[in-house]
Amino acid sequence: MEVPATPELDKLAAARKSGGSQEIGAFLEWLDGRNFAIGQWYTPVEMMRCSGCSGSGIVVQSERRRDEHGYSRFKKTNRVCPGCEGMGEREVELEQRFMPVYRSVEAWLAEYFGVDLDKVEQERRAILEAYRQ
Ligand SMILES: [Zn+2]
Repeated sequence: MEVPATPELDKLAAARKSGGSQEIGAFLEWLDGRNFAIGQWYTPVEMMRCSGCSGSGIVVQSERRRDEHGYSRFKKTNRVCPGCEGMGEREVELEQRFMPVYRSVEAWLAEYFGVDLDKVEQERRAILEAYRQ
């Protein structure tokens, strides 16, 4: 029987052996028991009507030109709005917000130790499959 390679399971085992994961796990449960949550700062963005073109996506540009008789004239040209590149609206960053991030203790530990839990599951299945044959 050929046992498949299990790099993620090995990482998980090393993290458990180091002892650090137990301390961190206990700390996360301690936080949870006191109704503390881990959160993340983020900057929400919202699409808003472009003030440069009032949402049309086009700006009218006047240029002074001389006509064939040498008189100075204004020529109006429609141009794509440089503020929104013709979209009529643009992203505006809103005030920073803080949002709780809910994850299981196992998921936090996996992220901290760089373990991919989906790969762990795949490796577990591959081992089971290998033993069945
Ligand atoms: Zn615009």
